[in-house]
Amino acid sequence: MPCTGSSAPGAVPPYPRPRPGRAPEPTARRTVHDGHHQHTLPGPVVRTEGSAPVADQAVDHAYDGLGDTFAFYLDAYGRRSVDGRGLPLDATVHYGVHYDNAFWNGRQMVFGDGDGTLFQDFTGCVEIIGHELTHGVTQYSANLDYQGQSGALNESVSDVFGSLVKQYALGQTADRADWLIGAGLLAPGVQGVALRSLKAPGTAYHDARLGTDPQPATMAGYLDTEADNGGVHLNSGIPNHAFYLAAEALGGHAWERAGQIWYDVLTGGRLPSDADFAAFATATADAARARYGPGAELRAVQAAWTTVGVGAGVGAESTAGTSDATRINAPLRPA
Ligand SMILES: [Zn+2]
Repeated sequence: MPCTGSSAPGAVPPYPRPRPGRAPEPTARRTVHDGHHQHTLPGPVVRTEGSAPVADQAVDHAYDGLGDTFAFYLDAYGRRSVDGRGLPLDATVHYGVHYDNAFWNGRQMVFGDGDGTLFQDFTGCVEIIGHELTHGVTQYSANLDYQGQSGALNESVSDVFGSLVKQYALGQTADRADWLIGAGLLAPGVQGVALRSLKAPGTAYHDARLGTDPQPATMAGYLDTEADNGGVHLNSGIPNHAFYLAAEALGGHAWERAGQIWYDVLTGGRLPSDADFAAFATATADAARARYGPGAELRAVQAAWTTVGVGAGVGAESTAGTSDATRINAPLRPA
């Protein structure tokens, strides 16, 4: 199954909506490089902003996905690129040989081709591109430490907005979305539907070679581990599921109210970089109240965190704050 979600070349996506009388929208400044299967970054330029598609699907998928992500942040939240100030978007495709990952290295996105046995080309899923670019957004906003619970929040925010980029590109409401990260990424024959699921963490794959999706959906399954920077790709299932529950309860376009609340927390300047799940939950409730008052939005957010076992008096011991300030090479999946 091919990856889906990026707006087709030449098609008119439902968003951004035309805004008659408005000044021209800022445009992305995209550059795609070809890694030529080396580990040197960024590699030769193969496509720049406004240039025609080239005869390389990975290049064009990366270009389109960067554009979808740029359009999403601009239209949904008025954010100009990952830093809010029009930062050029650089991506390298064909990184390494059969490289089974994608990552944000603090300056650019990097995509492997996959080994063809477990994974296919990592540029094929727009939510993966949105995931990696959101690591940049987080770097320029809450700058969550990539360790323990704050690291799991960093990963979760990338999954949340990665999925929202796809939902936005397809014009989907919460009830129509697949809520998957890497839908179609798994190679033919691998038993599974994606790398992760926000709707049902722990169910994305169950395969003899790849193993079983290890993500917990609630604090009852919280994994206390040293691996994976303290389980950043594992326990992210818990805040992922909280976002899904809030968005599903509110209905409509998930980026509009649930996404706005999460975005307000991420960019509001008050979330500490070593925030744990309980601090993040409190911050989302505060943000819901601040923007929408004591109504359905606040109730949906509070109920979501309660369901996943995070809340006042429920917060686990923080394992955050142990990493140094330099945080690079945030990957899509455990390295
Ligand atoms: Zn990531």
